[in-house]
Amino acid sequence: MAGQIKPERSPKPPKRRARAAVTISGTCLCSAVAIETDAPVFWAWHDHSEASRRVHGAAYATYVGCWKSKVRVVGGEDVLGRFDDVKRRQVRSFCSLCGAPMMFTRGGSSKWVNIPRALFCARTGREAKYHVAIEQLQVWAYLGAPVGPLRGYPGVSIEKVRKAKPARGGSFGT
Ligand SMILES: [Zn+2]
Repeated sequence: MAGQIKPERSPKPPKRRARAAVTISGTCLCSAVAIETDAPVFWAWHDHSEASRRVHGAAYATYVGCWKSKVRVVGGEDVLGRFDDVKRRQVRSFCSLCGAPMMFTRGGSSKWVNIPRALFCARTGREAKYHVAIEQLQVWAYLGAPVGPLRGYPGVSIEKVRKAKPARGGSFGT
């Protein structure tokens, strides 16, 4: 109704502030290149694709995906090498002194940077629960089977394999 005084609004509850991001730092093997980003990162995953396997020399690579705007190279930019993988439309950067892979971007996603999880010692705020190219999982990849020490070789473990039962009717040393 015209002229009616609106009742005073009750004050809005204060907006919940987003938790302040924590800066996490990563370095290459020789420490020449240092990068920073904010945790929690956007996501984390295991990449089983051939390109990542070859670059890392490993069964698969684990990455954290970050907004490009939140990634900072804070040291060693001058020794950061770059490989343009034209065929795959990917760009990979690495430390030209020790060879460690540092960053990986896809041609079509200029807003994103993928960083090897292993470069960070601190927690990144995301568990790697996702897999890319899981159909390429290698038969030689270690999948967490129980291991025990290998006698005579300190620091080396061997997967414990259950002994197969002898075939029915087989004769073993009797
Ligand atoms: Zn290095």
